[in-house]
Amino acid sequence: MGARESLLAELAADPRSCPRAVQALSRVPRERFVPPQLRELAWEDRPLPIGDGQTISQPSLVALMTSLLGLRPGDSVLDVGTGSGYQTAVLAELLGLGPGALPGAPRGRLATVERLPGLALSAQRRLESLGYRGLAFRTGDGGLGWPEQAPFNAIVVSAATPVIAEAWLEQLVPGGHVVAPVGSGEVQQLQVVEKRERGPRVELGPFVQFVPLVRDD
Ligand code: SAH
Repeated sequence: MGARESLLAELAADPRSCPRAVQALSRVPRERFVPPQLRELAWEDRPLPIGDGQTISQPSLVALMTSLLGLRPGDSVLDVGTGSGYQTAVLAELLGLGPGALPGAPRGRLATVERLPGLALSAQRRLESLGYRGLAFRTGDGGLGWPEQAPFNAIVVSAATPVIAEAWLEQLVPGGHVVAPVGSGEVQQLQVVEKRERGPRVELGPFVQFVPLVRDD
């Protein structure tokens, strides 16, 4: 079995990842999201450098975070920290925005924000050349959410944040979820925060390591 097949089999056997998320990962060519000289490692379950001091997350974490969003067909999603665009592509598959989407299938909406212009541009080019359509790209501080695209059913953050930003909660629908690595040290804890009328409900996930969310304040 090749690296891709064995990784996908491992993810499928993990009770924490939902089958639809694993199916979405299986449709995204991760080797196209890593630098050419690292292609051989693309299907290892590890993060890899993507330039500008940033990393593409490890596949099992992308599967887990995607599963924790609890997405439904037609949902609207904000992806904070586009990076290589890999998490974006996985979400696009789930939202019917991928190249193989069936005509007439319910389509969701997907917006993604990246702080570094070089990464933002190359991710956009990569996703468009792979046939992802109808995504909204923005270069800027994802800590502010994206008010013009709100409200969202879910927000996924792939950079470490000391707190869940107020803007994210404001821009969620009631019952919507933010999934983010929370902490200001080298290690953070994944949080799933549900917006409820009586105040947010927080569930704690595993410890993880992400590059920091950089705020320009
Ligand atoms: N989801 C990405 C992971 C990229 S790593 C992938 O699948 O490849 C996290 C990314 O968050 C980096 O590209 C970093 O530049 C970006 N980032 C850091 N602070 C940010 C901010 N305030 N707003 C938007 N993006 C930010």
